[in-house]
Amino acid sequence: MVEILDRLGAEFEPWRRYTDDPFLLLVGTVLSQNTNWRNTRTAYNRLIARFRTPRQLATADEREIRELIRPAGLFRMKSKRLKDISRVILEKYGGNLGSVLRMPPEKAREELLSFPGVGYKTADVVLAFGAGRDVLPVDTHVFRIAKRLGFASPNDDHEQIKLKLEKVTPVGRRGHAHMFLIQLGRRYCRARNPLHERCPINDLCPIGSRYLRRKEPSSRVRARSKN
Ligand code: SF4
Repeated sequence: MVEILDRLGAEFEPWRRYTDDPFLLLVGTVLSQNTNWRNTRTAYNRLIARFRTPRQLATADEREIRELIRPAGLFRMKSKRLKDISRVILEKYGGNLGSVLRMPPEKAREELLSFPGVGYKTADVVLAFGAGRDVLPVDTHVFRIAKRLGFASPNDDHEQIKLKLEKVTPVGRRGHAHMFLIQLGRRYCRARNPLHERCPINDLCPIGSRYLRRKEPSSRVRARSKN
């Protein structure tokens, strides 16, 4: 994993999350469900220009939220979810997620998972990028790539993959691992038609290695050719 992260770190620009505010991370992650980053970003910017705190969202007219987040798709479900989450944060924690994030890691995760519609990925994104916890959130790209790289078995579920990836990722690099693997998934290791030949870690990947062996002898491992 260390070599993979080093290669990806050389390949991709450092990527900063759009915010480190835990509540806004939660909002952005809910909006990102089943859509791409561009649509998420548009909906997010429209929404937070108008409502950006749990209190504001909890008391907002749901129809207005719907219209603001329409570009993200599934806007009825997402507007309801955002209002429900905001209401819980307001009623249970006085509108501030800080007390949750200061809990011991497992307890904080459990608490976030109890929010309406908050799943593992969303909880872990908030913990990693909103609370500085050393966890590796597993999204759809990370889930797929962990199996392709052989870090996880074909039948592993989300939690098994998370534990296996965290075990092989050096402490302090798990948030970066999440971001680099997402970029790898968007650019090369796509769900359909992955670009094995151009992939910067093809010689470190079982699938990529098999692909390279099948190629003409003149084919070169891309990463090596950069040296
Ligand atoms: S070589 Fe192919 S399967 Fe392996 S990580 Fe790269 S794109 Fe994905």
